[in-house]
Amino acid sequence: MEAGILYIVATPIGNLEDITLRAIRILKEVDLIAAEDTRHTLKLLNHLQISKPLISYHRHNEDAKSDILIQKLEEGKSIALVSDAGTPGICDPGEKIIKKCIDLNIRIIPIPGASAMINSLICSGMDTKEFTFLGFLPLNKKLRKRKLEEIQKSNKTIIIYEAPHKIESTLKDLKQILDSNRKITLAREITKIHEEFIRGNIDELLQNIDNLKGEMVLIIDGCQEINNEKKWDTISLEEHYLFYENQGFDKKDIIKKIAKDKNMTKNEIYQKFI
Ligand code: SAM
Repeated sequence: MEAGILYIVATPIGNLEDITLRAIRILKEVDLIAAEDTRHTLKLLNHLQISKPLISYHRHNEDAKSDILIQKLEEGKSIALVSDAGTPGICDPGEKIIKKCIDLNIRIIPIPGASAMINSLICSGMDTKEFTFLGFLPLNKKLRKRKLEEIQKSNKTIIIYEAPHKIESTLKDLKQILDSNRKITLAREITKIHEEFIRGNIDELLQNIDNLKGEMVLIIDGCQEINNEKKWDTISLEEHYLFYENQGFDKKDIIKKIAKDKNMTKNEIYQKFI
């Protein structure tokens, strides 16, 4: 018997209109829907007037449930995998069954749709050519420190998911490592009534997050110093000096920064200015 197909179906991240015609058709056609939270998905299905058997597939039963789902796929049943919001597998269950299907040569078909990371990025105003998605920052101190160092040095746009009750402590951690001029966008409640994009540097953001509720994504601009690294050889010392002076650095810090950028000693830079 030919195995069934596993469809990875994206669902809305707020606004119920954000579901594709194809996703609706697939949800109607499959034999079974595997959902992160069956009660949550039932609301969406009721809204779409779809009635289908549901089976729970969440983080804590991923291993056991993927075996059951694989068995059904091998019996020829087609299954749609959905999460509570957005794209399954993106900070949501999905990875385990997808890997198992690949090992067993069972076909997987993505049904594209909403994801908070892409929609927050495109409205952030940050560079979208290259970016790093970090998901939720680890809570473990050592791992968190490592991630924060990665953010500090990254010349690419960084995307982070965060829960509202942890946003303040995360921004405070970011304040410890980010230059005061590094831009951040906080994207909140995307596609919902209270959708907003708060843009500024770390201090400005910290002033604006009192009692901030809802779902949030942080988009952090890449480290411009590193982005500019390659340019240093092509500009004069005077231009280099002005670049940092315009950012508010004092003479001592400017010399230190130029020395670092040009891989020279501070003394050599002083000599050149004399
Ligand atoms: N699978 C989802 C996706 O494709 O974006 C992400 C699920 S993850 C468990 C939930 C996190 O996504 C939230 O904590 C928040 O950071 C982000 N998120 C989800 N919906 C959002 C929305 N409408 N506005 C802003 N952030 C959202």
